[in-house]
Amino acid sequence: HKYVYDFAEGNKDLKDLLGGKGANLAEMTNLGLPVPPGFTITTEACKAYLTTGREPDGLAAQIEAHLESLEREMGRRLGDPDDPLLVSVRSGAKFSMPGMMETVLNVGLNDRSVVGLSNQAGGNDRFAWDSYRRLIQMFGKTVCEVPGEEFEHALDEIKRAKGTHNDLDLDADDLRGLVDAYKQIFAKHTGREFPQEPREQLDLAIRAVFDSWNAERAVLYRRQERIPADLGTAVNVVTMVFGNLGPDSGTGVAFTRDPGSGAQGIYGDYLANAQGEDVVAGIRNTVPLQELEQLDKTSYDQLLGIMARLEEHYKDLCDIEFTIERGKLWMLQTRVGKRTAAAAFVIAGQLVDEGLIDLDEALHRVNGAQLAQLMFPRFQLDHEFEPVAKGIGASPGAASGKVVFTSARAVELAAEGESVILVRRETNPDDLNGMIAAKGILTSRGGKTSHAAVVARGMGKTCVSGADELEVNVPAKKFTVGDHVVNEGDVVSIDGTTGKVYLGEVPVMPSEVVQYFEGELDPETIDDALVRAVHRIMTHADAARRLRVRTNADTGADAARARRFGAEGIGLCRTEHMFLGDRRELVERLILASGEREREDALAALLPLQRADFIEIFREMDGLPVTVRLIDPPLHEFLPPLEQLAVNVAVAQERGEDVAKEEALLAAVRRMHEENPMLGLRGVRLGLVIPGLFAMQVRAIAEAAVAVVRDGGTACPEIMVPLVGAVQELETVRAEAERIIAEVVGDSGVEVLIGTMIEVPRAALTAGQIAEAAEFFSFGTNDLTQMGWGFSRDDVEGAFFWRYLELGIFGISPFESIDTDGVGRLIRIAAEEGRAARPGLKLGVCGEHGGDPDSVHFFHEVGLDYVSCSPFRVPVARLEAGRAAI
Ligand code: ADP
Ligand code: MG
Ligand code: MG
Repeated sequence: HKYVYDFAEGNKDLKDLLGGKGANLAEMTNLGLPVPPGFTITTEACKAYLTTGREPDGLAAQIEAHLESLEREMGRRLGDPDDPLLVSVRSGAKFSMPGMMETVLNVGLNDRSVVGLSNQAGGNDRFAWDSYRRLIQMFGKTVCEVPGEEFEHALDEIKRAKGTHNDLDLDADDLRGLVDAYKQIFAKHTGREFPQEPREQLDLAIRAVFDSWNAERAVLYRRQERIPADLGTAVNVVTMVFGNLGPDSGTGVAFTRDPGSGAQGIYGDYLANAQGEDVVAGIRNTVPLQELEQLDKTSYDQLLGIMARLEEHYKDLCDIEFTIERGKLWMLQTRVGKRTAAAAFVIAGQLVDEGLIDLDEALHRVNGAQLAQLMFPRFQLDHEFEPVAKGIGASPGAASGKVVFTSARAVELAAEGESVILVRRETNPDDLNGMIAAKGILTSRGGKTSHAAVVARGMGKTCVSGADELEVNVPAKKFTVGDHVVNEGDVVSIDGTTGKVYLGEVPVMPSEVVQYFEGELDPETIDDALVRAVHRIMTHADAARRLRVRTNADTGADAARARRFGAEGIGLCRTEHMFLGDRRELVERLILASGEREREDALAALLPLQRADFIEIFREMDGLPVTVRLIDPPLHEFLPPLEQLAVNVAVAQERGEDVAKEEALLAAVRRMHEENPMLGLRGVRLGLVIPGLFAMQVRAIAEAAVAVVRDGGTACPEIMVPLVGAVQELETVRAEAERIIAEVVGDSGVEVLIGTMIEVPRAALTAGQIAEAAEFFSFGTNDLTQMGWGFSRDDVEGAFFWRYLELGIFGISPFESIDTDGVGRLIRIAAEEGRAARPGLKLGVCGEHGGDPDSVHFFHEVGLDYVSCSPFRVPVARLEAGRAAI
């Protein structure tokens, strides 16, 4: 079994095996770019180690062989006292997990080779001891679980003694002293001396990287990002190059385009005389990459050339890590870079313009979650709001909330339903929980590539980083900015696009993408790269998709908005809201009716109101299908709650008032009480039990359609019967409905379809029978999930889903994204058997899932005709339906 690959043996398509970092190091090597030589240990080796608890047979020998050939190539031996080869041991999974796993630099240094390293560097003792102390620190923390703060304290101590805040002021003696201090810390925590044997260092570091796959924060991150838990990480062993050799050396990170906006240009951070992790950690403030041109023009030009080459090769935005060792440029990493939602659209559009990709590919490169983000509101700043600070717009969005300074407090307040902004000097992987809980993240240090920025962008969370006017004091739970003191619990607003920070809560307005969907911005003339890119990609998605997209709307206003957003009809118009407000009294009359006459009167009073509602909706959806669901909820939902009513009656009796009516109502409420109302008298059951109720609704729908058609419009009503479990239920309702429709419609030309929801598992399993009586099915995936799993939707999510997610029973709530194996299988069966019984049966979905990106792909694959979702989700569903089709 081959467990180890030389960089020259791999390529970018081997990410499963070599991880993203390893595959791309190999690709760059084969492109002839300057990559320090090295090799990659495969994810298979990691998986074998993680399942058996020991390195697989043959791995040690293969590492030995590759190490030997690396040593031959470099003309140095690992840890050789006189002329040591040093390596880094770097994690690298298939999917990038920034800062989640471990890397150890400078492996091969020990008490003797540190002298050899100094000689190699022309007697640069400072550099050699700095490298050694970094090894002990990283090795201790990563490999031996020595608490990192201990090392940081020791470093702070020495700096304090020296009277400086800057690492660069420490000289060789200071650093030699620091190495001693670090070794003591190491020995105290591990009960052994720091290992001097280079090969032992290497093996332990490799093992630690394997283990880091299962580190708590990595597990949490994977769950967030829905990365499978069983992929394992590869390990890259890379010849060290040194950015900390002096002012002619340095290290940096760069993007080939702005990952925030997608704009073309030079975006990166550079730090002279430093090793790579200093940049990412935000330890010192970096300078913009442009300044490298003054510092080292040759390397700068070479770097720009390589970046252009990488973009052309990967046909996408790349991010890179590089190091300059005494004027020689080395490439340490590249990958297709993460980007904000806006940048994803803009870049996809640009790449099409540049002829690097086609429109299908552009459509692949964006997704519905990104589009949904772009539809978030923005701050409305034509007010008295003046920013108090400006940092870097690290991850866009507009967030307001109460300031908190620790991850724990963020989690606490968020659990109480508060919006919080997590404020830190800088974040680190231990802040992950707090970042998840917060609405936004604000840091006083670090650039676009800091931990906070990268992780927030990945989560789609608003983030402003590097707002260095902020003096953050975590122990005192406050920050100061100018003359302002902001304490825990005070409200601030942060704009992740502009990087501006405001005190108080700034009001918000619709985003430009929403304005575009509303038809307020003309994409042909507007000078806005984002709106143009969105328009172009949406147009392509609409042309590509097979699924139609409808909306769930109960009012004319919702219907009108959804239509502007591209809805091609209404998939779910609920009629129950039409029974609320001042109409409640009519419903009460209906429920309390003591005889046929009274009931008919009550229904007759409701009829014109319902008809008027439907006329409005049919007009807004002129020419498009409108699915109206007959009344679904249990009728007692329209009555006052039992306790309240009982109290009212008692009070009124006390006062000697006439309570006959209230008493009757109370009796009705008692009579209608159900232990499990969701499984009780609702949906089609109401229609079968309460005479005239469905008939009134059917008549209102048919009369409304006729009225619209008489006015010159086109109405296409589809009457949908909820909660059907047996074809007999539907047949009964249908017979009556057909009679009424025939009577009302006459020769008006109006056509009314009758169909059913499929939301009771039995309906899905007997779909062949039900299709005999239905012209369409609409999957009510909320109830189908509720009844399929036996989960009460109103109770379980808050009660125990967190535990289910933690245990990995499911990766996402089945109410959010369709459970394809279970509930999805019910849908498949119903679709197949329904269509077999009635070819041409129309199939749609009207649950929340209709607007969920993954679910849309599933519905496409199952062959449904349309999805229906809330108006704001309509563009998301259009985009994903297009992506599913290409
Ligand atoms: P991460 O995946 O967290 O970015 P990396 O493996 O990329 O971790 O390494 C951490 C830092 O160390 C990066 O800045 C990287 O550029 C630097 N680094 C890694 N290997 C080497 C090396 N062989 N020589 C110099 N710097 C290195
Ligand atoms: Mg890296
Ligand atoms: Mg339902």
